[in-house]
Amino acid sequence: MILDKFRLDGKIAVVTGGTRGIGLAIARALGEAGARVILASKHPRPQAMAELKAAGIVADYLQADMEDEKAPRQMVEAALKLAGRIDILVNNAGIAADGDTESFSDTRWRKVMTTNLDAVFRASSAVVTPMLAQGGGVILNIGSISGIISNVPQHQTAYNSSKAAVHMMTKTMASELAGRGIRVNAIAPGYIVTDMTQPGLDDPERAPIWLKMTPMGRPGTPDEVAAAALFLCSPAASYITGEVLVVDGGYVTR
Ligand code: NDP
Repeated sequence: MILDKFRLDGKIAVVTGGTRGIGLAIARALGEAGARVILASKHPRPQAMAELKAAGIVADYLQADMEDEKAPRQMVEAALKLAGRIDILVNNAGIAADGDTESFSDTRWRKVMTTNLDAVFRASSAVVTPMLAQGGGVILNIGSISGIISNVPQHQTAYNSSKAAVHMMTKTMASELAGRGIRVNAIAPGYIVTDMTQPGLDDPERAPIWLKMTPMGRPGTPDEVAAAALFLCSPAASYITGEVLVVDGGYVTR
């Protein structure tokens, strides 16, 4: 049965930033497909755990601040200790930061790069050896259409640069690991309704521009990203690696 290929029974999935927004929707989707999920975020958010457990999903939580150089590796080690293996790593935690290039401080630049880019590499690097030892695995990175096009009207050189780098990291790592049983893919979401975008969607200056530039004329939902994530993390995508799957209501077609 083709739908069996979307099942993740017995799999262990770590989702960074899994406590809110897109990450929580991905954790729920993977959990509903049968995976045991381990959420990792900066702030413990008991309501996320309660929500997953109420849905019958086996879920654990690890505190990890991705700005801390050691945190991604420690998170992987803690998850291995907890569950014995990691079949799926979803690098989703991220922050947005707007600001003009001429006044964007080095401190803010480093914060964006550390969280959105360095942590993705660090967690992925840490998970490769255990995944190889167990016979394979899947890494899914959450990039952005901002890694493909330059959004307007906001100025966000650091954010866009970090996401473009995540896309190239995805392709390069996928090529390196393809023959050894690890698939590496990314999703590039367009505007999705979360805490990150709500201020922009409420902004009478930004929202009409964002929606006009989205051919479907509406923002997406976290579940619409989660469905793509489930596909890429599941055996249904067994021949897909190095892909950056755009989920954006058509934004990058224009
Ligand atoms: P939210 O702001 O709703 O959630 C962000 C998540 O990342 C939270 O769980 C947060 O944890 C976690 N996080 C942030 N900083 C850190 C850190 N230093 N250490 C650990 N965890 C951290 O964002 P979204 O759900 O909207 O975004 C998720 C991903 O999708 C991001 O990578 C974002 O760039 C990307 N994306 C989002 C789009 C959108 O339109 N929403 C569009 C394109 C890409 P905590 O609660 O502890 O702060």
